[in-house]
Amino acid sequence: MAGYFEEMGWAELEDGQQPNHLLDMARFLIDFGLYEDNFTGEWPRLPPPASKEAVQSLADVTVETDDKSCPICLKKFNIGDKAKEMPCHHQFHAKCILTWLDKTNSCPFCRHELPTDNEGYEAFKKEKKRAEQRKEDIETLHNSMFS
Ligand SMILES: [Zn+2]
Ligand SMILES: [Zn+2]
Repeated sequence: MAGYFEEMGWAELEDGQQPNHLLDMARFLIDFGLYEDNFTGEWPRLPPPASKEAVQSLADVTVETDDKSCPICLKKFNIGDKAKEMPCHHQFHAKCILTWLDKTNSCPFCRHELPTDNEGYEAFKKEKKRAEQRKEDIETLHNSMFS
């Protein structure tokens, strides 16, 4: 195995030698997507799960047509099937969407976002919105001055 590490330019740790902190830092940055050239200011990971409250307040609906299918499992709905409806009006089997929202907070079909219980993510969303608003304000100002 030593040969492999040597080829990669790595030295194995001797007894009592400390791991390389720069490497740990680099791994951290890569983990958070901050090290990529195409970093766009997007949340670097899958957004957190939807809040329990948001999930509980999803509407229960009865499917009225048979030309739609559940976007998650792709099975066709039958008329009279029970489904859960997201605020964006997309419908899913309860089991499908509940499992999904347990992992991440957005509609798998259109990415409409539900609130989360994750303070870090909510702060990130607010900051992003503020940045977008600022950009819009500047554009409005620009347009009112130059058109
Ligand atoms: Zn389904
Ligand atoms: Zn949707």
